Amino acid sequence: MRIKVLGSAAGGGFPQWNCRCSNCDRLRSGVLKGRARTQAQVAISSVEGTWLLLNASPDLRQQLSENPEFAPREKTRSTPIAAIILTSADVDCMLGLLHLREFEPLTIYSTLSVRRALTEENTLFRTLKRSNPPVQWEILPLDRLIPVFQPTAPTENASLFCKAVPLGGNFPDYVSDALRLNLNEEEAVIGLYFVQNEKRFLYAPTLPGRGQDWRRCVSGCDLALLDGTFWSDDEMIKVHGSGKTARNMGHLPLSGAQGLLEQLQLNGDVRRVLIHLNNTNPALDSESAANRAVRDAGWEIAHDGMEFEL
Ligand SMILES: [Zn+2]
Repeated sequence: MRIKVLGSAAGGGFPQWNCRCSNCDRLRSGVLKGRARTQAQVAISSVEGTWLLLNASPDLRQQLSENPEFAPREKTRSTPIAAIILTSADVDCMLGLLHLREFEPLTIYSTLSVRRALTEENTLFRTLKRSNPPVQWEILPLDRLIPVFQPTAPTENASLFCKAVPLGGNFPDYVSDALRLNLNEEEAVIGLYFVQNEKRFLYAPTLPGRGQDWRRCVSGCDLALLDGTFWSDDEMIKVHGSGKTARNMGHLPLSGAQGLLEQLQLNGDVRRVLIHLNNTNPALDSESAANRAVRDAGWEIAHDGMEFEL
């Protein structure tokens, strides 16, 4: 399978339009040794010419335009995007769906609760129904591998399977209390575990870090692209003077006791890459102690345009 990172930052991107933290300020003035990043977006392909999008970022239009793999192939309207798979109902995961509203029949996979959060109270998403046939929602069950791409022509071993791994997060703030009572919390935030031809890949851009299942899942993978949002638990409070801790926002911080680096010290063959970095994260500066600590612990940091072949 081929995996391409189209965006690697958390919500707001890097630099963030309204932020003058040290990172954003120094990137704008050209002093910081690091790259600008669009908001997290990944695409996966199991056969030449067909892609599945993992989430739909607010920067999706720009990301598709800048990567020629996603240009239409046919003379009239078409797309190499076969489906979109959502990890949560967060704005940063789904706003890009509205960039895909141009009358294209698409398939969207999500948990039933995420689908309900998006469609029952957000009438804007009705714009996706205008295509013929309309956008089709498919339910992604928890803890069960299902085929998400099966080639129509006989292409050897190109079928791609996906399992939703519940990660224990929360629904976004915009979901009403009334609807929340009818949703399954286990379905709020999931990791996407992919299998093709014995190759295994986990995508978890939001990782609350509760329980042990996610660790077992990572240890069986060839590649894990995991939540690198915050370096420290109190990062937002330190940088902006107020706010929530990383853990309260559903992100396991990288450093500190029981942080991601401490919890996931693998010596095996799992390639571990951080994605969804917030603009405040000191690891974005390649000359920082945090960046060095990440690399010393055996991790890589994703950047826009990064590719993997499994
Ligand atoms: Zn900033």
